[in-house]
Amino acid sequence: MLIDTYGRVATDLRVSLTDRCNLRCTYCMPEEGLQWLAKPDLLTDDEIVRLVRIAVTQLGITEVRFTGGEPLLRPGLVGIVERCAQLEPRPKMSLTTNGIGLKRTAQALKAAGLDRVNVSLDTLRPDVFKTLTRRDRHKDVLEGLEAARDAGLTPVKVNTVLMPGLNDDEAPDLLAWAVENDYELRFIEQMPLDAQHGWKRDGMITAGDILHSLRTRFELTEEGTGERGSAPAERWIVDGGPHRVGVIASVTRPFCSACDRTRLTADGQVRTCLFATEETDLRGALRAAPEDGTGTADGSDEAIARIWKRAMWGKKAGSGLDDPSFLQPDRPMSAIGG
Ligand code: SAM
Ligand code: SF4
Repeated sequence: MLIDTYGRVATDLRVSLTDRCNLRCTYCMPEEGLQWLAKPDLLTDDEIVRLVRIAVTQLGITEVRFTGGEPLLRPGLVGIVERCAQLEPRPKMSLTTNGIGLKRTAQALKAAGLDRVNVSLDTLRPDVFKTLTRRDRHKDVLEGLEAARDAGLTPVKVNTVLMPGLNDDEAPDLLAWAVENDYELRFIEQMPLDAQHGWKRDGMITAGDILHSLRTRFELTEEGTGERGSAPAERWIVDGGPHRVGVIASVTRPFCSACDRTRLTADGQVRTCLFATEETDLRGALRAAPEDGTGTADGSDEAIARIWKRAMWGKKAGSGLDDPSFLQPDRPMSAIGG
């Protein structure tokens, strides 16, 4: 098991398949892009599958989410999914994507064993999309979403970040559209994870603002007891159901005490938290000779599992966002894997 000193157990693994992206969302990346990881530093497809196998068979991981950067840019994606689907026990598998290219790959991903997708879309207006992402690809995302739904990668969830002055007036329109198209909409509060360090707490649209705006048009009833467990999204039933809307209030209502995640970057570093400032290298161990007898380089499955467990044991209590000494991590969201 992956357990930390606060008794939290990680069962959900986020795997970043690449740090590259074909969009430049303003809350994530600068216009000119970033210095991408060098190819030799990236985990190979075999290395990724091996780490997922160790996580599933030795460390109690039951859910795997592939992300990035833009995971559809990884040429081996379908093969990775296919091989992970053959693991015993078989993990639940999903993908977080900007949707560009999903029209082409949705069927193949479903056939390979992917269970479902989260597609990021912040606006229904092509011109606002172009301003927010700095690319004119709105239509591709809408087509990708439809293809995912038609391929049965359901429930299709849509991730939306609202930015002041750009799309913060769109929450009710987005919800009406999601209900009509059978997508589950989830708003994510903007977090300080952009490469440009442009996040300001004062400027961000909060969960409270989002709910207030939605309630101008919809009746929202909190789902269940208001206990969200380890699920980051708090969910509301829309107009009596059956549709739901989620809000992930990472900043104003953090869920660190129930966190069940562990993360792997595209270059093989374990991160215990999005906001962690420390990482643990698994790639070095992966590339070391198995059991070479020196005790210094041991790349066996057991040694890798041990390193991962040790990293988890050191997981901090929370993101530290509310601490005056909070430091934004060096890696931006696109390089961590959101
Ligand atoms: N490229 C894929 C995508 O956009 O879905 C996967 C990676 S992206 C980093 C994962 C999610 O993180 C997206 O839903 C995106 O909107 C969200 N995200 C990126 N930067 C963020 C930030 N600063 N605050 C909150 N969410 C952010
Ligand atoms: Fe790319 Fe996703 Fe970041 Fe947008 S949020 S720039 S799509 S990695």
